[in-house]
Amino acid sequence: MEDLRDLYQEVILDHNKNPKNFRKVDPSSHSSEGYNPLCGDRINVYLQVKDDKIQDVGFEGSGCAISKAAASVMTTVIKGKSVEEARTLFKKFQKLITGEMDAFEHMAELGKLAVFAGVREFPVRVKCAALAWHTLIAALEKENEVVSTE
Ligand code: ZN
Repeated sequence: MEDLRDLYQEVILDHNKNPKNFRKVDPSSHSSEGYNPLCGDRINVYLQVKDDKIQDVGFEGSGCAISKAAASVMTTVIKGKSVEEARTLFKKFQKLITGEMDAFEHMAELGKLAVFAGVREFPVRVKCAALAWHTLIAALEKENEVVSTE
């Protein structure tokens, strides 16, 4: 578990400092805004979906390091995936951060997401890590309203 914890710190710091796809996708086919009142994290997720494939994804917003890093990593893993694959990844990510799924047993399928296993040790942070994903799912559902984790 030690290695994964070090990697977690490293990934959070790195993606917080140099977030990937930190931009508005324009034009976008889907977008949504998410808000986590517990921490004050706000995020906008933009998607360009064509033929059921996520061709482009970006995010903007402000929040804690974990919410930003989780959003950044999310954009890198869902880009190029089908909508269904993105939904499946969301379910896995949710199980991972709530402790329902073991990171080591599922390392291969979780890929980069596995490092977020560290979040389960900090229950208040679970919502920070999940915010981008909830916002993504809302965007895919075309719910163009503010999503709250509460
Ligand atoms: Zn947060």
